[in-house]
Parts: sequence; C-alpha cells; structure tokens
Amino acid sequence: MKAAVANTFGSILNIEDIPMPNIESHQVLVKIHACGVCHTDLHACHGDWPVKPTLPLVPGHEGVGEVVQVGSAVKHIKQGDRVGIPWLYSACGHCEYCLSGDENLCLSQQNAGYSVNGSYAEYCAADADYVVKVPANLSFVDAAPLFCAGVTTYKALKVSKAKPGNWVAIFGIGGLGHLAVQYAVAMGFRVVAVDTGQAKRELAISLGAEAYCDFKTDNVVEDILHATGGVHASVCTAVSKAGFRQSYDVIRRGGKCVLVGLPADDMPLPIFNTVLNGVSVVGSIVGTRKDLEECLEFAARGKVKAIIEEKKLDDINEIFADMEKGEITGRIVMSM
Ligand code: NAD
Ligand code: ZN
Ligand code: ZN
Repeated sequence: MKAAVANTFGSILNIEDIPMPNIESHQVLVKIHACGVCHTDLHACHGDWPVKPTLPLVPGHEGVGEVVQVGSAVKHIKQGDRVGIPWLYSACGHCEYCLSGDENLCLSQQNAGYSVNGSYAEYCAADADYVVKVPANLSFVDAAPLFCAGVTTYKALKVSKAKPGNWVAIFGIGGLGHLAVQYAVAMGFRVVAVDTGQAKRELAISLGAEAYCDFKTDNVVEDILHATGGVHASVCTAVSKAGFRQSYDVIRRGGKCVLVGLPADDMPLPIFNTVLNGVSVVGSIVGTRKDLEECLEFAARGKVKAIIEEKKLDDINEIFADMEKGEITGRIVMSM
C-alpha cells in the first residue's frame, strides 16, 4: 500500500510502497479516505519532543475511512462502518485514569502516527475499542479534522470551565484555533482571537470572534485587557513561547489559562501574580472517546464546520513547509 514515511528526523517524508498492516483479533483494518494534517505530525517528524517516536514511522492521527476487515474478537464494529482513528489509538482500560474517565491520561496509551503507524496511508490498523464512528451526515473530509483539532479544542474549552457569556481568548487561529473559535461560539462564549495577518483576521471574525489581535503589530495584552477587562479563560494553541506568556497575561482574576500548543519550550510563570490573582494554569491533551463523540455531534448538527483545503498524500512535504511558515488557512485534509 502507499504511505508517507518518516525515515529520519528533520528530513522530508518519502512516499513509499509498504506492506499492508496485519490486524490482531481485537483490531480492525480501515481503508483511509481522508486524513487531516496536524502540527503535531510536524513535531513528530522533527523529533521535537522529549519522547521521540521510533522511526520509520507513518504519521497521521486524523484518519477516517471505512472498515474493510474485522478481527475475530470484535463484536461492535462491522465491515463497512465509517470510523476515525484518533491520537488516542488505545489505552489500557483498567488504570485509575481509564476508570475515572481520563483515558487520555493513561500511562499505557498508544498514539496514532507516533508510537504506532498512523493514517498517512491507504490503510491503517486500529484498536476496535478506540475507533469512533463518523456521523452519517458528515463526509470523511469534513470529519477528519475533528478527530484531533476538533476534539482537542472542544475538550480544552470544557477544561477552561468558562460559562456562557464569558470572554475566552483563543491564541493561534490555525487548524486547532479556527475550530476552537467555532466551539467557543457554539458553547455561548465571547471570543477574542490572536494570530497574525489579514487572512487569519478575516477567518476568525467570519467564524464569530468579536475581536482580533495581530501578535506582530498589536499590543496583544494591553488591547485584550482593555477590550474585555481580562478574559475568563484563554486557550493557547500557538506554537510559540511568546504566545503562551501573553495567553497568561490576559486572564482576569480567578480565570484559567489552558495550554494546548506544544512548542518545545519552558514557560516561566510569575509566582506572585498567579497567587494573588488566583489564576489557574492547566494543560489539556486531546480528549476521550466521549469528548470526541460530543465534538462530532456539534458538527453533525451544523454548529461547527472545519475550513478545509483538500490535497493529496503526495503533497505532504509542501503542506509541512506551508505549516511551518504559518501559511495555512484552516486545516489541510489529504484524500488518499
Ligand atoms: P497550526 O500550524 O495549524 O496553527 C498554529 C497557529 O499558531 C498558526 O496560525 C500560527 O500563525 C499561530 N501562531 C504562531 N505564533 C503565535 C503567537 N505568538 N500568537 C498567536 N498565534 C500564533 O497548528 P495546529 O495543528 O493548530 O497545532 C497547534 C499546536 O497544538 C501544535 O504545537 C500541536 O502539536 C499542538 N497540539 C496539541 C494537542 C493537545 O492535545 N494538547 C493536540 C493537537 C495539537
Ligand atoms: Zn493533532
Ligand atoms: Zn489506562
């Protein structure tokens, strides 16, 4: 089968013909129809993070398609089902996290396109218990970005504990951020968006943000504090240390700063202000299968729709180059 393969960190992906995956009894084989390109895939191929994937690797964790083969122990998924394979490829199912609804924190989890091969390929093997069904009225292409960008930002907004009518600042209006704006609006929050350039401004405003700050030309912190009196929560999807600090500095007393983006930096926190202002800083990592079902439901009801440009698997190296320059509007989805 055809797949995009990372063989060494920091170099281009190779389009290769590799063997079809063999499935085990608890797995299904999915014929991938569409797969979104997440910035995490770029981090994976660069080896940016402390825990690196083993190479060679097929990246991709927004793959959706049709089940074409079912393992002998699988009862609830059948051939022909439309499913997606999220970052949370599998978890142990019996640790304290799995048992308390925090399976996204399971220490024994596998991650699609990171610890196991993902969906930058014509076929992908998946754990039947961790694939999530695509609602009937969503196309494969429209569903793909929701399997990471959608569920991650929907979950982060839940973690923010913001209430309807509250101000929420979204830092980074990329693949994740443009969905964060839509989920925030659908959840009744007032949105101020931060990114750079006219295209991101128009995108954020068209999706319902009430205000936009350009991190290259505006006084982000001053402007947001002036416009909102301090936001109740911020969600930072920016791949930039500076953006993280600003997302902290715009919070009002008692508010929450939700960290989502994953630049390979540290974030120094002022102890005095954090204590005096009662600010919470919390990380949020993807979401559970339940979060994913809820996030898909918003899209199935027409409340959220990813802005998508469709490309081919062969285009992956150009897509990565554009992503590095911050030149993508919305999400790129590759059709297989
Ligand atoms: P993307 O490249 O599509 O978007 C990133 C956006 O951030 C771009 O629009 C860029 O212009 C903007 N940006 C850069 N510097 C900024 C700044 N200082 N202020 C505001 N915006 C700024 O990337 P993506 O796919 O949306 O992913 C974003 C990050 O989130 C990546 O680091 C990725 O690994 C991470 N991620 C985390 C999770 C999680 O579960 N926590 C899940 C998926 C992705
Ligand atoms: Zn992702
Ligand atoms: Zn577990």
